Amino acid sequence: MDLSAVGNDVERVVATEEQLKAKIKELAQRVDEDYRDRDLLLVGVLKGAVMAMADLARALQRHVEMDWMAVSSYGSGTKSSGVVRILKDLDRDITGREVLIVEDIVDSGLTLSWLKANLESRGAKSVEILAILRKPDAAKVDVPVKYVGFEIPSDFVVGYGLDFNELYRNLPFIGVLAKHKYT
Ligand code: 5GP
Repeated sequence: MDLSAVGNDVERVVATEEQLKAKIKELAQRVDEDYRDRDLLLVGVLKGAVMAMADLARALQRHVEMDWMAVSSYGSGTKSSGVVRILKDLDRDITGREVLIVEDIVDSGLTLSWLKANLESRGAKSVEILAILRKPDAAKVDVPVKYVGFEIPSDFVVGYGLDFNELYRNLPFIGVLAKHKYT
């Protein structure tokens, strides 16, 4: 689905399809280097990280395992609640594993700092984070994101896995949702 298919729902594009492709390639190269001769388990956070996971995994030049978690975050609004609930847990035990959480966006950072602590408490050897986008508020919470795609302003964005009421996830780019869609 391209920009013309969503009319004026998208106010402004913050990352084009080409920019995302280039960024994923760059991040994959860093991950390949950092995890050389190490175990690597990618944990994607459903549903927002689906596109990033699929693209990152294919850009990596190594074997990799993939698992998924679903946690509650925004519900149908546009503000983080800070309440995290596991909707779908990992399929496998991660004791001793080197885990890389793949996330769409870090906003308040509440979801990720909770998730990181949760996975560490299960005995993972290491837990790092890769996020395609980071908003300025993330700086307020001490959540170390090792790999960041793009720093963006605080606007509500959609596309490349990110939704508004379950729509727009299949846009190949990321854009700011027009205010008239949710006010
Ligand atoms: P945090 O706990 O960091 O505030 O929020 C993390 C989650 O909120 C993300 O995984 C994502 O699902 C959702 N989120 C945060 N900002 C946005 C945004 O601009 N657009 C969309 N679609 N979801 C967002």
